[in-house]
Amino acid sequence: MKSKLHIVVTGERESTRSFAMCKSSLFAWVLSSVALVVLLAVFSFLGLKHTYQNVHIRASLEETRQELQTAQAWNQGIEILLAKEMAIKEAEFQAILDGLDVENAERERLLENVVTELKSRSEIVESILKTVGIKTSIKENAKHSGGPFTPLSENSYGDLIFKLDHSLDIIKSVPLGPPVLGSITSLYGRRIDPFNKEVAFHSGIDISKRSGTEIMTTADGKVSDMGYTAENQGNYVVIDHGKGFKTRYFHLQKNLVEKGDQVKRGQVIGLVGNTGRSTGPHLHYEIHYNKKTVNPLRFVRVARNVPSVKR
Ligand SMILES: [Zn+2]
Repeated sequence: MKSKLHIVVTGERESTRSFAMCKSSLFAWVLSSVALVVLLAVFSFLGLKHTYQNVHIRASLEETRQELQTAQAWNQGIEILLAKEMAIKEAEFQAILDGLDVENAERERLLENVVTELKSRSEIVESILKTVGIKTSIKENAKHSGGPFTPLSENSYGDLIFKLDHSLDIIKSVPLGPPVLGSITSLYGRRIDPFNKEVAFHSGIDISKRSGTEIMTTADGKVSDMGYTAENQGNYVVIDHGKGFKTRYFHLQKNLVEKGDQVKRGQVIGLVGNTGRSTGPHLHYEIHYNKKTVNPLRFVRVARNVPSVKR
């Protein structure tokens, strides 16, 4: 059974209108309207939510972008700072390296100078020993007290030092230069004896000088003998220099050293005189090498050719 609903609309001027509508249609209409409203509400809500989310995301994105920019700026700043620090460190390191190079170069230069100096000294020592005719071996030998010396064959620093040490050790014992500055009046070797006019062997040289002139020893050593004999030496001093060398000084006015005294090259050991078997004030000077007399002239003169040697 279908029933109709009558809707009456009354106006102000007493005009009325009525609408007839069946109930089911009305119900359907109301339902549709409600559904439409609900749908609208849902869509509106979703739209609003979406808009809100969009705004939020944009804000968040903007924030992130700014953070990223800040971070990038920081990173750039740090990179610049690091680059500067690196540059400074590199410069410092380079300076140290340069310094090391300079030090090495300087050290090498100094070493070169030392080696050159050593070489020249070795050459001097070599020339001295060659001039006086002393042949020595690098091998130490207890019986042969000549001392070690070999001409330089290698130029290494260590070898030079070693050889120069040996050479200097020998040269200390080699009597060099004149014991007194005067004129040589009698040479070493065969001669006519001034007293008996017979041929004799003169075992030294005579150096004429006024009485009282200081006599200096010609190498480091130790006074091994001294004293007086009227018949021959007069006042005399004997010095043992080691390495097989001895020197003897005769006819002294006065001995100024005692037996056992250590003496240095150039030290005054006595005064020129005319004691013993002597015809006038002079020094009789002898050099002994390995218990044999040698010609002192080469030893006396060698110093003149080698200005860097003391005395
Ligand atoms: Zn003499």
